[in-house]
Amino acid sequence: MKVLVINCGSSSLKYQLIDMTDESVLAIGLVERIGIDGSVLKHETPGRDKEIIEEPMQDHKDALKHVMDALVNKEYGAIKSMDEINAVGHRVVHAGEKFASSVIITDEVVKALEECIELAPLHNPPNLIGINACREILPTIPMVAVFDTAFHQTMPKSSYLYGIPYEYYTDFGVRRYGFHGTSHKYVSYRAAEMLGKDIKDLKIITCHLGNGASVAAVDGGEVVDTSMGFTPLEGLIMGTRCGDMDPAIVTFLMKKLNLDADGINDVMNKKSGVFGMSGVSSDFRDIENAASEGNERAAIALETYYKRVKKYIGSYMAEMGGVDVIVFTAGLGENSIDAREEICGGLERLGISIDKVENKVRGKEKVISAADSAVKVLCIPTNEEVMIARDTLELVK
Ligand code: ADP
Repeated sequence: MKVLVINCGSSSLKYQLIDMTDESVLAIGLVERIGIDGSVLKHETPGRDKEIIEEPMQDHKDALKHVMDALVNKEYGAIKSMDEINAVGHRVVHAGEKFASSVIITDEVVKALEECIELAPLHNPPNLIGINACREILPTIPMVAVFDTAFHQTMPKSSYLYGIPYEYYTDFGVRRYGFHGTSHKYVSYRAAEMLGKDIKDLKIITCHLGNGASVAAVDGGEVVDTSMGFTPLEGLIMGTRCGDMDPAIVTFLMKKLNLDADGINDVMNKKSGVFGMSGVSSDFRDIENAASEGNERAAIALETYYKRVKKYIGSYMAEMGGVDVIVFTAGLGENSIDAREEICGGLERLGISIDKVENKVRGKEKVISAADSAVKVLCIPTNEEVMIARDTLELVK
């Protein structure tokens, strides 16, 4: 059984072909600059150098055709014919309240997702374009949509409602949804496996710290709270996103800077976060380097970032009445020794202490808490693709 996992962005398309007999990756690739000058497909199979294919690709359908050609290419492909692909799994960002788990894609599902565009105007349209292109090119292959919001659908109302008039929830769907659900699900289940425990018996806090970042409180395998909200802007400070702040700042800055709604959205999504705070970069490696060279704004950006994560850990411990496991994942969570040490620092009285030697790990699964730490702290590389492939396989079976 081979599953193709597709993740479409506005001008990009990421893919992985996974052999589900052993979950090995047969091919992995990325198309960038779709529909603009310099379209390029980077395709890789195990044990071979990356293949770089530079050809104009007008749209996602065009890009997908190039991906299929690469997958069946005699020299650098992974399969002999497209018939070997048994199913396609699509990452979809927002399902609103419509889907609490993955679904087989039908015309009705596509229609329901179109209705969610208003909730995720940046993310859902490219996801849908990818789905439609795939359905045209591979009309007989079953397809599944796996949603970033689904794992969070177990949150109680008290976690997802905002303190605004109730009608805005019922009339317009203004509530907290949460994102990165596929990643939070993967690492929380993997943590239980690594510890040889049943997830039903664990209170887990998962910290997905990438360019976008969110924390989730997972009690007995179900999300009870998460830091991202109506959109992926809420919660932690991120690479370029502001996260939580006094909502009055929005109108204050709109007036001060004469910004319209799109203008302030741009500031909060693209010009803020550690990028805006440090003035250095949105990449944590650059900021860590700048801070170590004495750049004060970079240092304070990191300090503020760590403190925000710590605050969420504390609040979720209070919310769940304790925690058994804390997981770090995604770019920064998997790779930054400093970030994990700083975030967990000073929490010994709460039963959390890191082993500084064990913590010297990047991109590998490892228990990094001290032997006497009541709370286990784990580093787990996320694998959203395999999670999508598993759900896809499960449904098409
Ligand atoms: P996304 O999928 O949201 O684009 P990733 O999960 O790939 O993000 O995370 C990207 C972030 O991880 C970048 O800000 C990058 O700087 C950070 N990162 C990756 N490797 C390291 C590292 N070795 N040390 C610190 N930060 C890192």
